[in-house]
Amino acid sequence: MAVAVGRTYHAPASLDEAIALLAELGNDAGVVAGGTDLVVAARGGRRQLPTALVAIHRLSELATIEGSPFGGLALGALVTHADLERSDLVRRRWTALADAAALVGSPATRHVGTLGGNLCNASPAMESGAPLLVYDASVELRSASGTRGLPLADFLLGPARTALAPGELLTGVTVPPQPAGRVGSAYLRLDYRASMEIAVVGAAVLVALDADGRCTEARIALTAVAPTVVRAADAETALRGQLPTTERVAAAAARAAAAARPIDDVRATARYRTAMVPVIVRRAIEAALKRAEEEAA
Ligand SMILES: Cc1cc2nc3c(=O)[nH]c(=O)nc-3n(C[C@H](O)[C@H](O)[C@H](O)COP(=O)(O)OP(=O)(O)OC[C@H]3O[C@@H](n4cnc5c(N)ncnc54)[C@H](O)[C@@H]3O)c2cc1C
Repeated sequence: MAVAVGRTYHAPASLDEAIALLAELGNDAGVVAGGTDLVVAARGGRRQLPTALVAIHRLSELATIEGSPFGGLALGALVTHADLERSDLVRRRWTALADAAALVGSPATRHVGTLGGNLCNASPAMESGAPLLVYDASVELRSASGTRGLPLADFLLGPARTALAPGELLTGVTVPPQPAGRVGSAYLRLDYRASMEIAVVGAAVLVALDADGRCTEARIALTAVAPTVVRAADAETALRGQLPTTERVAAAAARAAAAARPIDDVRATARYRTAMVPVIVRRAIEAALKRAEEEAA
């Protein structure tokens, strides 16, 4: 990568080295993973590259996808969207995340863009955020002063704003085991073309069904309709403990609009986004229910 005069480029070979470098370089340092947000924005003049660029692509210890013994999931920050899209484990058990990964950009973007970069860039339209919210995921943050975990919902503070402290690296994402019962999850987005596009509205849904087909758990999160990806609590309450009839699903989807605080931008007006929330949420609930029902087969 060409680096402008006055800037330095560092490519640590281990996590310990990266953490030490970030501490040493202080406020001058900025992390780059795949560069598909940072470098593209800098080239477009929308963002400045940091004075000291710390490239983390060599930290292979952060590129792992692992299931935990109790049925959870551990993802390294350098896992790419293509890794998620292809992983048997993710496709089988964490389907909404696989759905989301498959929608990102183009094959080239998916092979380079990382999960950590997607979360740290903190766009309200990020693809991986809503699925991880319905999985109750937490992020792991490491700096020279130690390691801390934070629920993803507390990590994302607003557009391009996170709880990352100076010198801190997002090292991974942990996801607890799924609820009991037959579980299905799905992520859908409204966009204007099949690739090289970001969400106008997106929705992730997780449902768990008991033996009678009643929803013992329902979690719903929205993309691109608020300053961060958000859970739609009212909609979840409308489904939890209920048989998911067509009417109840439609009513829950309608209540999801209460969580939306969209803005007008080049992709859509706030009014259009609000009107589309129930449509996308209903389709995502139906897709998640279908997958949960298939678990029994
Ligand atoms: C053509 C194109 C299409 C796209 N389509 C989509 C799309 O459909 N959906 C979507 O969600 N995104 C899309 N994106 C955005 C982008 O590809 C993703 O957000 C990607 O996951 C970013 O990851 P990265 O590794 O490239 O991040 P980078 O650009 O390397 O970094 C992004 C930000 O995160 C910080 N950062 C990165 N990793 C860490 C870490 N481990 N710890 C601390 N800070 C870190 C960087 O300092 C920077 O501020 C698209 C981008 C392009 C160029």
